[in-house]
Amino acid sequence: MKEIKKIAVMTSGGDAPGMNAAIRSVVRACAYYGANCVGIYRGYEGLIEGDFIELTARSVNNIINKGGTILKSARSKEFRTKEGRAKAFENLKENEIDGMVVIGGDGSFTGAVIFNEEYNFPIIGIPGTIDNDIFGTSHTIGYDTALNTAVEAIDKIRDTASSHNRLFFVEVMGRDAGFIALNAGVGAGAEEILIPEENLGLDRMLESLKKSRRTGKSSSIVVVAEGDKSGKNVYELAKYVEENLPEYDVRVSVLGHMQRGGSPSCFDRVLASRLGVKSVELLLDGQTNLMVGLNNNEVISTSIKEAITGGHSINQELLRVSDIMTT
Ligand code: ATP
Repeated sequence: MKEIKKIAVMTSGGDAPGMNAAIRSVVRACAYYGANCVGIYRGYEGLIEGDFIELTARSVNNIINKGGTILKSARSKEFRTKEGRAKAFENLKENEIDGMVVIGGDGSFTGAVIFNEEYNFPIIGIPGTIDNDIFGTSHTIGYDTALNTAVEAIDKIRDTASSHNRLFFVEVMGRDAGFIALNAGVGAGAEEILIPEENLGLDRMLESLKKSRRTGKSSSIVVVAEGDKSGKNVYELAKYVEENLPEYDVRVSVLGHMQRGGSPSCFDRVLASRLGVKSVELLLDGQTNLMVGLNNNEVISTSIKEAITGGHSINQELLRVSDIMTT
């Protein structure tokens, strides 16, 4: 097997707080082990265009605390084509790059697997997405920060909800996964939490809200994941409740992209630092097609394929706690 002397790093797909801390860790680990490091701008798009930058330990000063990604991120249609991936491989060869670290979500990993199958190019994945919807790690980079951002925002909404005796529907991110909604909902004391994994049923929600009223609650928060399966979006849900429970003064707040931004939490910075080091160590050790992750506070690796296909399941104990808390 070819010795790994030069490693490239990219951020791909949706950005997440802590991606910079992961880049920093990959770059510093390369410097520590005497490997060269190259940053690829805009994910697979920059890989196809050859938009590269040499990175040294000093290039990543003062970024551990910064949200977003200094390497930018993108979604690349061209990388989904054979021709696009051929250009990407040519650029890697031309720049004498021997291995690559991809920081991103399941889409980015799917691209990585296909690329590796075609060109046998060594790749290690680092899970960077606020959704936490990846198998093989208890936490993805950015999830903890996004949760804290959502909880802080819901706390503020609660102040205005209780001042006016209002019912607020708060939509949080999570198209296919309800991790942010469930955890932020429990953390912020929501009355109801609607997530894609569980179809609560609209009747049950109405019953629960009626019960809250009867037992003396004057304001309420319902947290809704954007991918909730009730068949209604957050505005339609609010309208439905207004029509069926006219005593409620209903408002909607969509938290949106603010959940992706901001300075990463300490947890995300430490996680990113640990996973970045491990990704470089695996590449230098001749490993490929693995994703690094956290399990019981230990850094582990899983095959990238399994990380994509392994699925994710919602914590049933937390669902039960959430039910009990709304009594
Ligand atoms: P997030 O979960 O935050 O959205 P992600 O990594 O899942 O992040 P995607 O937009 O799904 O984000 O994927 C990022 C990029 O990965 C795509 O723009 C594309 O270039 C590449 N990619 C995804 N799926 C494939 C595929 N089947 N073949 C080749 N490339 C792919």
